Amino acid sequence: MNNTDTTYGLGHDLPVDDAGYYGRFGGAYIPEILYRNVENLKEAYARYRNDPDFQREFDSLLRDYVGRPSPLYYASRLSAHYGAEIYLKREDLNHTGAHKINNAIGSVLLAKRMGKTRIIAETGAGQHGVATATVCALMGLKCVVYMGATDVARQTPNVERMKMLGAEVVPVTSGNATLKDATNEAIRDWCCNPVDTFYVIGSTVGPHPYPEMVAYFQSVISKEMKTQLQSHIGREYPDYVVACIGGGSNAAGAFYHLIDDDRVKLVAAEAAGKGVDTDMSAATIRLGREGIIHGSRTLVMQTPDGQITEPYSISAGLDYPGVGPLHAYLATSGRTEVIPVTDRGALRAAYRLTELEGIIPALESAHALGVLDMKKFSAGDVVVLNLSGRGDKDMATYLKYRDMICDND
Ligand SMILES: *Cc1c(COP(=O)(O)O)cnc(C)c1O
Repeated sequence: MNNTDTTYGLGHDLPVDDAGYYGRFGGAYIPEILYRNVENLKEAYARYRNDPDFQREFDSLLRDYVGRPSPLYYASRLSAHYGAEIYLKREDLNHTGAHKINNAIGSVLLAKRMGKTRIIAETGAGQHGVATATVCALMGLKCVVYMGATDVARQTPNVERMKMLGAEVVPVTSGNATLKDATNEAIRDWCCNPVDTFYVIGSTVGPHPYPEMVAYFQSVISKEMKTQLQSHIGREYPDYVVACIGGGSNAAGAFYHLIDDDRVKLVAAEAAGKGVDTDMSAATIRLGREGIIHGSRTLVMQTPDGQITEPYSISAGLDYPGVGPLHAYLATSGRTEVIPVTDRGALRAAYRLTELEGIIPALESAHALGVLDMKKFSAGDVVVLNLSGRGDKDMATYLKYRDMICDND
């Protein structure tokens, strides 16, 4: 922990300043009407993140409700296959099947402390919507989830889960009717209902303090990882941490307590879609240029005249035209190595993990696994791969492409 590291300013564990800038990236580009909301959130976050009661309640829910600590599993057959010591951080075993619940619990607890009675969220694949609806059911709060109409149609099981959990799911038909449009609609709602409503953002994106706050709620991943490595290998750090990046929250959590440790190489997998040379990609760090999206200055996929372009990935959770400002900073400063992984690379890696270890990963996590085929590790290298979620939600996609993967392998 580097709570007291003065280079980061008071109270920040991350390379961020008080205005929410990670180098050139971040900040809070918001309409005037949201200014009060964001200030109130900043104050509440600063007050409660070090509050012992808040911390106790957060920790006990992570333990008894989510099932933490998530195991750090030594994948011996995968290790033999790739010639490195590969450990999987099993976020797929969390309640609701992914890392998103960590942030949903932290955020909704904060909302309750702030006296909010209504929770709103955006969702793409539906994982963040399900996590938020789950925590709202647990805490008896009203929940409204904005979801692009296109995604509502292609993610039926998650839509049904949210409804059973008591959430209202609002299909958004503007734009391409996907995640970017759902986020715009959630921000619009927040503008109209500033007093009773708390906006739970599902990744390390949005105006300051969201990227920092969401990273903090996910930082339990690297905190546990260090303790678990100590008992597995007798030291607290691996040689590599690998994670996939959509907006960047599971990667932020997996990197968090290791960012300052230059013995550790940080590797981020972004979704190349059909390839970074095609116009069907979501490799934002590779293809994006500096711009502003959803309240933050970051790398954005855009046309030469600044129109945000529609990204593409086989994985709905990585299909976002921006990336959290922390990751834009870590990548452009050279701290992380960013590897674009194609749909095909991810599918192959998912089938390989299933075959060798009996674990069906989320399609998002399969992009992190795809890095194992693209990067050469040395024998003895300790690689921790953050397995951000489980693959149940992706079964239809996996079965659809099964023949293509098996024929050419
Ligand atoms: C949402 C999601 C992601 C992508 O979001 P990040 O904020 O980049 O972590 C990755 N994996 C799973 C399983 C997800 O549900």
